[in-house]
Amino acid sequence: MSLEQFKNRNVGTQNYVKLDLDHSPTSGWCQFKQVVKRTFKPELFVGLWVTLREMGNALFRGKMHTTQYPFEKLPISPRYRAIHDMLRLMESGNYRCIGCGLCEKICISNCITMETKYDENQRKEVSEYTINFGRCIFCGYCAEVCPELAIVHGQRYETASEQRASFSLFEDMLTPIDQLNLQQEYQGFGAVSPNADENIKKTPLAY
Ligand code: SF4
Ligand code: SF4
Repeated sequence: MSLEQFKNRNVGTQNYVKLDLDHSPTSGWCQFKQVVKRTFKPELFVGLWVTLREMGNALFRGKMHTTQYPFEKLPISPRYRAIHDMLRLMESGNYRCIGCGLCEKICISNCITMETKYDENQRKEVSEYTINFGRCIFCGYCAEVCPELAIVHGQRYETASEQRASFSLFEDMLTPIDQLNLQQEYQGFGAVSPNADENIKKTPLAY
């Protein structure tokens, strides 16, 4: 493109429809004819036909293209990084989290805070665990690095809240003990691959 062409900003002026203002309709009948002529073009009926066709498909054939959110929700990908869940061991119901601190270390938003202590059996237990969801960018590193699959990204993707403190406590993310039988084994980001067992090699007994 030459510089003259580039400077010519009146691109497409030849396609403009110029109104003939010198010959505006004077009588009411002439105005009515002009309105009808400008309004009822074939494209209008094509648009109406498409609307009626899709309405019929939705009402009588069940081909609905919209969802009635929040009453209906689309399934999300197993790898979607939504609000975190803290999982329990299925056998005992204890927390899976062993307080190793890897998630806290790797968190690039510095939004995980945790404290640990030793219980009466000198086993490490998590006494405090919070995630500041006002800072979390849902990168998934914490779920990927967790050696116990204790912290995972669950199915809750509605992160709006009236208070900053919402969803941030360990107990809010932990599987309720009375719903342990409903806890799903995690299939998403950072989870063990489905064929992980096939990839494990036997250790020679000589070792
Ligand atoms: S998803 Fe990322 S930013 Fe959010 S808590 Fe985990 S590591 Fe931190
Ligand atoms: S990486 Fe997993 S096991 Fe370690 S502290 Fe975080 S949630 Fe707990």
